[in-house]
Amino acid sequence: MARIIKEWIGKNDNEAIPPRVKLRVFLRAEKHCAACTLLIVGKLRPEYDHVVALINGGQHRESNLQLLCSECHKAKTKLDVAEKSESYRKQLNAAGIRSPSRLKGQGFRKAKPPCTASRPLARKSDRYRAESDLDRDLSSVSEAMCGQLNSIETVGI
Ligand SMILES: [Zn+2]
Repeated sequence: MARIIKEWIGKNDNEAIPPRVKLRVFLRAEKHCAACTLLIVGKLRPEYDHVVALINGGQHRESNLQLLCSECHKAKTKLDVAEKSESYRKQLNAAGIRSPSRLKGQGFRKAKPPCTASRPLARKSDRYRAESDLDRDLSSVSEAMCGQLNSIETVGI
């Protein structure tokens, strides 16, 4: 009767996985990557991954370890980090914590409202006419003021 091997459980998350445990995981997977099923030999280096990542609440124990090739491990880690940040964002939302808003620019100016039947499109010639009317008004005001000044001077104050 074979001896029963007790499952390795890390004392804390920082504890290195002992070589004997790595070997057991390697042999349990029959040298194949758990994701792409490639045979891990030669240039392909074995990597040991937590099925449920530690950052997502996974346990640092033998039953939570799997054999991956480096490419699959890289991709899985990326997914684990994305899952972690998503759950972190949800937790922040649930707690009503908002991250400080970033500085914002002025954005785009508001566009003029489109022309409607009640506010018809002003023609360029209308705008020029309006501006020239304004010029004429200003020049008449300044002429009037000059006239007043002249009259004051003639009175001799
Ligand atoms: Zn792989």
